Formats: sequence, structure tokens, C-alpha cells
Amino acid sequence: MVALSVVGYPRIGARRELKKVVEGYFKGHVPKEDLLAEAKKLRKIHWQVQKEKGIDLISSNDFSFYDTFLDTALMLNAVPNRYKEIGLDQLDTCFAMARGYQDEKYDVKALEMKKWFNTNYHYVVPEIEDGVEFKLNSSKVFDEYQEALELGIKTKPVLIGPFTFLKLAKIKAAGKKYFDYCDQILRVYEHIFNILNELAVEFVQIDEPKIVMDLTGEDINNFVRMYEKLLPQKGKVKVILQTYFGDIRDIYKEIVSLNFDAVALDLVEGEKNIELIAQYGFPGDKLLFAGLINGKNIWRNNYRQTMEKLQTVFKYVNKDRVVLNTSCSLLHVPYTLKGEVKIAEKYKQQLAFAEEKLTELSELRELLQEGNYLVNKKFIKNAQIKKEKITNKEFYFEDVRTKINNIKDEDFIRKPSFDERIKKQQEILKLPFLPTTTIGSFPQTSEVRKLRRAYKKGEITLTEYRQKIKEKIREVIELQEEIGLDVLVHGEFERNDMVEYFGENLAGFLFTENGWVQSYGTRCVKPPIIFGDVKREKPITVEWIKYAQSLTEKPVKGMLTGPITILNWSFPREDISLKEIAFQIALAIKEEVMDLEAAGIKIIQIDEAALREKLPLRKEDWQKDYLDWAIKSFRFVHSSVKPETQIHTHMCYSEFADIIKEIEAMDADVISFEAAKSDLSLLDTLKEHNYSQEVGPGVYDIHSPRIPKEKEIEEILLKISQKLDINKVWVNPDCGLKTRDMAETVPSLKNMVNAAQKIRLKFKG
Ligand code: GLN
Ligand code: ZN
Repeated sequence: MVALSVVGYPRIGARRELKKVVEGYFKGHVPKEDLLAEAKKLRKIHWQVQKEKGIDLISSNDFSFYDTFLDTALMLNAVPNRYKEIGLDQLDTCFAMARGYQDEKYDVKALEMKKWFNTNYHYVVPEIEDGVEFKLNSSKVFDEYQEALELGIKTKPVLIGPFTFLKLAKIKAAGKKYFDYCDQILRVYEHIFNILNELAVEFVQIDEPKIVMDLTGEDINNFVRMYEKLLPQKGKVKVILQTYFGDIRDIYKEIVSLNFDAVALDLVEGEKNIELIAQYGFPGDKLLFAGLINGKNIWRNNYRQTMEKLQTVFKYVNKDRVVLNTSCSLLHVPYTLKGEVKIAEKYKQQLAFAEEKLTELSELRELLQEGNYLVNKKFIKNAQIKKEKITNKEFYFEDVRTKINNIKDEDFIRKPSFDERIKKQQEILKLPFLPTTTIGSFPQTSEVRKLRRAYKKGEITLTEYRQKIKEKIREVIELQEEIGLDVLVHGEFERNDMVEYFGENLAGFLFTENGWVQSYGTRCVKPPIIFGDVKREKPITVEWIKYAQSLTEKPVKGMLTGPITILNWSFPREDISLKEIAFQIALAIKEEVMDLEAAGIKIIQIDEAALREKLPLRKEDWQKDYLDWAIKSFRFVHSSVKPETQIHTHMCYSEFADIIKEIEAMDADVISFEAAKSDLSLLDTLKEHNYSQEVGPGVYDIHSPRIPKEKEIEEILLKISQKLDINKVWVNPDCGLKTRDMAETVPSLKNMVNAAQKIRLKFKG
């Protein structure tokens, strides 16, 4: 019988149970025993559901309290001294690395966080310090294997591979390269293999997603040398080399000649993998794990296409050596459609979340076992559903399509040039040197969340809800004036999430009630589903921003989410191109920009927090497959505003050294971005490229509860002044304040404003 496998399962809980207990633990409400017990319960549920659905190769060690990459650092003892010194136990050390730690004696920042390849999941970036002593430092992988075994489930433990680990870690030791740690790190993996053998583990899955990206000749050699050393130590354990998010064109030949027992390829995002198999063949002594069920999107699998793909694969690989797999971990999709009662059945049948994807795997197995799958009932049903999606005209907007077709080249160009319009903006805005601002949201306190829940449940009327939100806006405007910020925001209290909110107010989107996906640590997002054409039917934010502006003399920023971020943080439809979807959203947001301007709003921020996210993993695909239309979409949104209107944008985790020209070409007047965590290294890039517009490098990290000191911010500003033209610098935190408490936010912002004032005096006397 054909075997079924799953790369990884979501771990946060169908009702975000893990988030709740972990946050409770952070706040001191939940004792550690309860935290551990809840985690154990969740692991059990997740293993059991996979077992019930007939999955043969179920993963273990895909669980994590925060992040599995961070767990790997702990496992390998790659724990920087500053965290070790605190003397916490392993779990608390893990949390300190993830979130920073502050008490009377210790004050350490969190490790950096980065986007996990082209997903909205973030991993914690380990640091490899001088004198690091790699050794086996955690028994998590074995414990979870045994825990499952006690439930009668023999799992395949999952490990991040040594190549990906070293490539993604930050090497802190001067003069060292990742490969210098090869021997040391392999000793730990050998040690792990020994124990897995003692435990009689049958399969281990080693994730090496880094090899779907561009590799140098040296990388390829290093990879090969690593596994030539490691694989002879595997004993009786069968090693699955797991890759995902693309194809392995640079290293396919080497991979199939290494002594792996199985190679797992992504046949959804890495369709080219099939060509590689055809061209170079696939060795008869290995298993092929065929990643056919999309772990990143929520549409039902298209059985016809999948079966056709499989028929091609079977030309080169014996059918009994093929294992049906997910394309990547199911971490990137929500748990289940069960309980989604608000989505009409006709839409719901188009969707498959993690649990439904398990069913798809077993149905595909059934089709494979049948002589003629074309007559199988499940196959026929699937074909019908797929056809209905294509022919559905409910969300087909002719007017939107016409407007998009009529876009001309000049619609992507804002006039006059930045140098000219910034002067007009300065005359009108009259901002001080080093203007201070925030990124948009203020803490979403439990009061705000309760309010929204009450409204959603019908406990309060729309009028009451709006009134209360207005009260919150008034408070936050007063607060910002008291703190002394220069450019104010309305706080985003009416928004649950910066993307979901716009989705809810645009036609073409579907929403789930519980479609949560982990973004980082305990943070989850509920991506809307782009089901059909996108269209703005009425103004969305204008009333709120107008109200906020009516309360103060200072400028209030209009606050919008940009088209690429809305696209990247939604589940996109697959029947039209991403470019077409992006242009439709851009048109909707452009209409909102124009309405805000007409309402007298002088500064409009269009967040592109996720611009980089869907950047293709291979450089050769960047322009044609993405950047060209992504940047155009943004330019289209603001190209029609008056010169006096100042356009801001904001980006998170801005690793944008390599796309700096494109960022500049977005032609926003001001950009704010994350900088505090990544050692301000982006400043050098801005300097080198002579970046023309104004910039607000985040001066403190809002992802951590720690309060930055005034002195610390002053120092950062001084550093910034050495690298950039200080006349073009804004002072702001590195992201929205939504996830923080007021108790942290107010002193942090006060310190920020005071620091800016000190530096102003220094420069201008
Ligand atoms: N304006 C948004 C906020 O402040 C931006 C959030 C983000 O970049 N992720 O919440
Ligand atoms: Zn941000």
C-alpha cells in the first residue's frame, strides 16, 4: 500500500490553546506544570488526528513552545553566554532568547527574528559566538518520540539539518565561516543518530530547505562533504532528506547520489523537481516523498492535476517507492474547516485546511489503488468542485477588470519628483527636525478586544461600538500630545488585524472564524481568503482618521495597508495571477488614498510590512515573477496624490539590502523600518546607495516587553546621524505597538521623545 506522510503539523492548537497558556505563563498566571500539561495534551491530539486519518509517517519534534529553529539552537547548545548567565532552566532560557529578559540584575535583548523563507512564519535567528561548544544539550527530540510511542504511535522525529542551521544562523565569531563549524556540529548529529538507533527509530526527517535557494559551488561541496561524513553514522535509522518551498535544481545530482534513504521533494512550489527527476533519473534504492498536497494554501487539491503529476513521476520512479507527502509543513495553514459555520457550504467545499488535507492524502491513496481512478466517486466530486470555482461569477467585477486593463504607464508615476514635493510638504507640515511618530497601532488592550467581541456577538449596537472606538481614539490622541509626539496616529482600535480589516471591508474576500496560523511565537494571524475579484464598495478608514484629525492641531497619519501586504498575508486565489490580484487590491487602496486626501489628511501611511515575503527564493526570478509588478502596484496606489500630501510606508524585518533600489523606486516620501534588532546594518546600505527619500529606522524593538532607556535611544540616534543625513531622519519604534501593554508603551515612547529632544539640542543648539 502506498504510504502517506506529513512534513509537520500545526502546533498552536485549533483554538490557539498553546498561545493562551504560553501567554498566561509569561504573565505569571499559569504555572509551569500546567503549561507542560497543556502542551502534552495538544501533541497527543495532533498525533492522534493524523493517525486516525491513516497517515503512516507522522512527525514528532515538530512541536515547539516558540519556534523549532530556536529549539534546534538549544539542542545544539548554541546558546549565547548572555542568556546562559541568567541561570534559567531550558524552557525559560528559550523564552529569554526569544523575547529578551529584564530583571534587577539582567537586561538582555531578544535574538533577531526573520521570515522563514517565503512564508509569514518567523524563526528566531541563532547566534554562534566565539568559543561556542556544540554538544547535545536537550532531549526534546527523544522525549517527544517516546511520548508518542506511549500512545502507540511510532513517529518520525524531525530535525533541522546542519547545513540549513549553519547557513541561517548568525556567525558572531570574527573571521569564522559557517563551514568552520561543520565537524563540531556533525558530532552532535552523530550523537543524536546513536540515540535514535538505541530507541529503534525507523525514520528520521532532516529538513534542509536552504538547498532550494541559489547555491554556490562551495555550498554544494560543503553540503556534500557534510552528509558524506554524517550518513555513514546513521546506523539502522532511515534518513529522509526533506526539502520544501521550491526545487533543488542546483544540487539534485549530488543529492540523489548521497546515501539518503529517502528524498522528499516539493512538487507544488517546486514543479521543476519533476523535470529534474525526468532528466537525471531517480535511484531505485531510494524512496521518493512526493510533496503533492500544498502546505501553504487552503484550496482543495485538484485530484486530476495531482494524478497527472503522479503518472509522470511513475515513469521514472517505481510506484511502490513513492510516498505521498505534503509539500511542506502544514504549520502554514489553519487547523480545520470543522466549526466554520459562517462560510457558506458552496465556498467551504473549495477549501482544505490541515485536517482536510490529511483526508486528501488518503483519498489520493485510494485513487492510486484503483484501476481506473477516473470513475472513482471522490475523483468525480473533486472535479465538479474545481469546475464550480472557475465558473463562479459571483465575485466577477467587470468594472474592476476594465479599470485595470486601462492602466497606463504614467499611472505608475507620481509627479513632481521627491526633491520638489518634499519642500512643499515641509512648508505645510512645519515639523521639527527629527520628527517623532509611531507606526500606527497602539496597544490592543483587553478592553478593546472585549469591545470588538461584544459588537461581533451583537451585545452592543454598531453605534455604541463606534462611539466607544471614538473614545479610544480621543484618549490616544491626548496621550500622544502629552508624550509630545509630532505626527500622531489614531491607534487602529477599529482593526483586529491590518490585513483582515481591509479584507472585511472589500468585496471578494472570505473569512474564517478560527483560521489561525502561527506567525511567530504566540502570535497568530487569521489570513483572509481572496476568493474572487477585489473591489472597494465604500470608504473604509476615512471616518476614523477624519475624527482623529479633528481632535488635534498636529498632523494625524491616514493609515492603510498596501496591496502587496494584503496579498501576501491573505490566501490568494489560484485561478488568476498574483499580479492581477495585486493590481485589483491596489485599485481599491488607491481609491481610499484619494478619499483620505480629499478629507484633508496631509500624511498617509501605506504599510508594506510584507513586501519581501513572496520574493522568489531564486534571484533570477525576482524581477519577472515579482518585484516588477509589486513595486508598480505600490506606485499606482499613491501616484495621483497632490505634491503636498506626504506618503509614508512601513516595512517589518527589513532585510532589504538587496532590493534597496526597488524600495527607493516605490517613491514613498518617508519609510520606517525595523532596524533596532539587526544592528542598524541597513544604514550602511542606505548610505552606500545614497538613498534619496526620508527614513525612520526603528529606534527600539517593540516585539520585546523590555523598555528601552533614553540613553540607549540617544546612542542609536547618534549612530544613525553618523551614517545618514540627519535632516532626513524620523524617530519611531520599529513596528506597531498593538502587541504591547500600555505600561510598557508609555515610558518607552516618552524615552524616545526625550532622546529625540536631546539629540535635537545637540545638533541645532
Ligand atoms: N500600521 C501597522 C501597525 O502599527 C503596521 C504593523 C506592521 O507593520 N506589521 O500595527
Ligand atoms: Zn512593522
